[in-house]
Amino acid sequence: EIRVEDLHKSFGGNHVLRGIDLEIAQGEVVCVIGPSGSGKSTLLRCVNLLEEPTGGRVFVGDTELTDPDVDIDAVRRRIGMVFQQFNLFPHLSVTENLTLPQRRVLRRDRATAARVAAENLARVGLSEKADAFPSSLSGGQQQRVAIARALAMGPEVMLFDEPTSALDPELVGDVLAVMRRLAEDGMTMMVVTHEMTFAREVADRVVFMDGGVIVEEGSPDRVIGDPRHERTRHFLSRLL
Ligand code: ATP
Ligand code: MG
Repeated sequence: EIRVEDLHKSFGGNHVLRGIDLEIAQGEVVCVIGPSGSGKSTLLRCVNLLEEPTGGRVFVGDTELTDPDVDIDAVRRRIGMVFQQFNLFPHLSVTENLTLPQRRVLRRDRATAARVAAENLARVGLSEKADAFPSSLSGGQQQRVAIARALAMGPEVMLFDEPTSALDPELVGDVLAVMRRLAEDGMTMMVVTHEMTFAREVADRVVFMDGGVIVEEGSPDRVIGDPRHERTRHFLSRLL
């Protein structure tokens, strides 16, 4: 479903991604962990073409994103992304936040967009907030709306970049529960997170990055429970 081949990304002289090879199968959940500055966000952003790779190739399904002739907007529609900051439109209601991108980007009619919005609000447990404005919601509720907004576009793949890092601790659980359900429903997911319990329980595979390379990867029990590399051990010991 996602394939990254020898991906490189430099910002000026800063060589941030130094040859990443990664394959994520359909329905697979991969958690990416690693220290600050190791290139996790840059990797996600290259998979979504928010950053242009300096070298290597990225595929979603059979489509090569790094092909210069690719229709970037068409490809992006197949990939949902959720950020640490929720980026909801403050002047729109929850439902309008979900219907606007469907209408603008997918050209769905009003009734279809409203139906899909309602379905996805139910999916994140926020049907009763349909007419609320973002400022009246908790951070955790806003992040669930952001997830519903991404899902309403019907993505094949969901990318999450530290979706719970900006939340008060008591609000983290609800967001992780939504993500866990999504994983159980078979969504293909790439999740940058510091939530090791989530990674252990939900991920099919954990990837540890440091210095722009994948240092080790494997099952959660292997990588988190029995890390082989000193850098992984050091990183994990500082989290506990
Ligand atoms: P964190 O855990 O803090 O989010 P990260 O692993 O996500 O870290 P990245 O955000 O990918 O790390 O950053 C990796 C490196 O790339 C850093 O040195 C950062 O300064 C640099 N970098 C990222 N984005 C840009 C940009 N748009 N322009 C210049 N440098 C950038
Ligand atoms: Mg980051």
